[in-house]
Amino acid sequence: MAKQRVAILGLGIMGSGMASRLLTSNFPVTVYNRNTAKTDPFAKAGAHVADSPRAAAQRSEVIISMVADDQASRDTWLGENGALNGAAPGSTLIESSTLTVPWIQELAAAAAHKSCNFLDAPVTGTKPHAESGELLFLVGGSASALANAQAVLSVLGRDVIHLGSNGSGALMKLINNFMAAVQAASFAEAVALITAGGLDREKAVSILTDGVPGSPMVKRVAARLASGDFSPNFSLRLMAKDLTYAASEGTRHKLDLQTPAAALAVFKEAINQGYGEEDLSAVVKSSRKLSAPQAR
Ligand code: NAP
Repeated sequence: MAKQRVAILGLGIMGSGMASRLLTSNFPVTVYNRNTAKTDPFAKAGAHVADSPRAAAQRSEVIISMVADDQASRDTWLGENGALNGAAPGSTLIESSTLTVPWIQELAAAAAHKSCNFLDAPVTGTKPHAESGELLFLVGGSASALANAQAVLSVLGRDVIHLGSNGSGALMKLINNFMAAVQAASFAEAVALITAGGLDREKAVSILTDGVPGSPMVKRVAARLASGDFSPNFSLRLMAKDLTYAASEGTRHKLDLQTPAAALAVFKEAINQGYGEEDLSAVVKSSRKLSAPQAR
């Protein structure tokens, strides 16, 4: 059977890895990115470059969006040049960005109005997993929409978990990321106390990473601290976005979630200190000093 024609909308860290993976797996790929300079290497690698999400969607049976946040997703799908305006009835639309549940539900309704299949399919894994087809897809949507997407998702991912109707993938992803961010923020504060208390940092950190606090996330941040390499696989700014979305999801369900709010304060401080474009692990570099007492 001929391979489905796939559009990748958004060539950031994740979208570029996914587009490369599809090209090396011989899928016919069309790419779109707002900043057109990012499309050049994909044109050289054999992708068709579209000048709008709409034009990319017109050429494709499976349309995947991988952009920063709700606003970016809205700009990609809706409007005169949005992908929904170019998608043929019966095509399969996949939103893989990490977004809010209310926006996903609005988008699902707009896709249904156009007689398109729609999945929210955010991912776990980061830059190397996108490039090597080892993402984990957390999927919300109908079983028939998922069946239409399966051939593409199985090239991009090591597994696909179907959680339920539209929005359930998005919700699971926000829960996953707020727990991960809480652990990173907690480790950042532990390192601040290790340093302020004059402990040997290497010894103290290895006690944490070898013991029960040593989750995969804590180990990942500790490794970045040891290497001093904070080049982004997943930007600190986007992890703060996920904490904001998770906190709002708690509020929507009338839950008083404390830990996303606490972690968000730690991440916001790191952004204020200029670390927003670095890897999320740069949260460990931000200073945690109490502000000076107010003058009376
Ligand atoms: P990124 O490298 O910052 O790329 C963001 C992409 O969004 C770029 O293509 C950017 O286009 C586009 N964009 C931003 N605002 C836009 C707008 N208003 N209209 C159209 N396009 C817009 O981000 P990323 O790391 O690839 O992450 C993409 C999504 O995946 C996010 O939702 C993130 O939370 C999620 N995610 C990331 C990781 C990870 O490890 N990096 C893992 C899982 C999930 P320009 O190039 O023109 O700015």
